Amino acid sequence: MQLFETYESEVRSYCRNFPKVFVTAKGSSLTDETGRTYLDFFAGAGALNYGHNPDDMQKALVRYVTSNGVTHSLDMYTGAKREFIQAFQDIVLHPRGMSYKMMFPGPTGTNAVEAAIKLARKVTGRSSVLSFTNAFHGMTLGSLALTGNETKRNGAGVPLNDSPTLPFDGYFGKDIDTIDILDQYLSDPSSGLDKPAAFIVETVQAEGGVNPARFTWLRRLARLAKQHEILLIVDDIQVGCGRTGPFFSFEPAGIQPDLICLSKSLSGYGIPLSIVLIQPQWDQWSPGEHNGTFRGHNLAFVTATQALQRWKTDELSQAVLDKGELVEKALEEIADQYPDEQLKVRGRGLIWGLDFQDSEKAGAVARCCFEAGLIIETAGAQDQVVKVLPALTISPEELANGLNILKSAVARVCATTAEPVGHSLS
Ligand SMILES: *Cc1c(COP(=O)(O)O)cnc(C)c1O
Repeated sequence: MQLFETYESEVRSYCRNFPKVFVTAKGSSLTDETGRTYLDFFAGAGALNYGHNPDDMQKALVRYVTSNGVTHSLDMYTGAKREFIQAFQDIVLHPRGMSYKMMFPGPTGTNAVEAAIKLARKVTGRSSVLSFTNAFHGMTLGSLALTGNETKRNGAGVPLNDSPTLPFDGYFGKDIDTIDILDQYLSDPSSGLDKPAAFIVETVQAEGGVNPARFTWLRRLARLAKQHEILLIVDDIQVGCGRTGPFFSFEPAGIQPDLICLSKSLSGYGIPLSIVLIQPQWDQWSPGEHNGTFRGHNLAFVTATQALQRWKTDELSQAVLDKGELVEKALEEIADQYPDEQLKVRGRGLIWGLDFQDSEKAGAVARCCFEAGLIIETAGAQDQVVKVLPALTISPEELANGLNILKSAVARVCATTAEPVGHSLS
């Protein structure tokens, strides 16, 4: 531990909450150097939807590497890339009636967001991109401008421009449909809001504290975008690839975004890979106009192609929805046990939040979980939400174990902070 503290930058973050040295991982468990095993309810912040080191991807990867498959190729044509594109078209896009070109930007999520907003600006000739309160879209300047979190924004060191923010679904409570507000701003020529190139939205704000948008809200947003000739970008980096059940999180809303960003679990193996899906009429890039050394990585193509085999049937989608119901029920039970705490439960599929409205309590719960062998993180503006994000492939036993650990942790934290009964009378 000392070595990391001495030599690794102060910027390190997750390791501060999980201060062990991890050496191996399989499925939903991670093992530290002392041999202690932890259950993973964090799943690489959504990069490990299929768990750690899935057998089929591992085999395909080892086979590819040991047969001298091309590892690096810039964006030259390779067999691995051809197989991935074909599988993505055949398994994901065609069955959904979706027609999109595939762009490979740099390998991280923020690279996909930067490429998408650059393209939206180029094709519309407008400079601003409208994002929503509590959004998270990445840490490079363009994406950071679209991110709500104050601490993250403060790291920019320069003004974050061309990025108006409007209220996300539910920001003013259930009874106010914030699309009405957005509509009013866009329709009033004196509102002061310049017409943006695009809206960028997460269907479930993940880092922002697990805030799901209603499908009707998403549909109205898509309609508003069309009406005002504004592009709709869905950032499906964290909640795509099956996290909410269907492959794309926006499917149940019945919308077809102009641009879609995917990353995190796209490679399925934790290898960096991202894509921007572009409706063909917007594919107005000139060759090399957005470039990069590591665009589309062959090792990631190999595991991603393997990962997509799971989407040939709807078995995985259904399993995600079934497990999601178990999580929701368990969290509701916990919330019901501590009525004074007014815990809020939110989520979809296999992303759930238990909102303590109190960062200290949420942090204490996450720490208690870790002591008991469960890796779980907090999210939200004040890190006030405990975020349940297991692998989609987690076994029912592991899921139940993790939820029990969480339940005990909440009992410990909420029991010790509760006012002793009758105390106030004395
Ligand atoms: C993680 C994330 C990003 C950024 O991805 P990086 O790979 O960390 O750059 C962007 N948008 C959403 C919704 C994310 O969850």
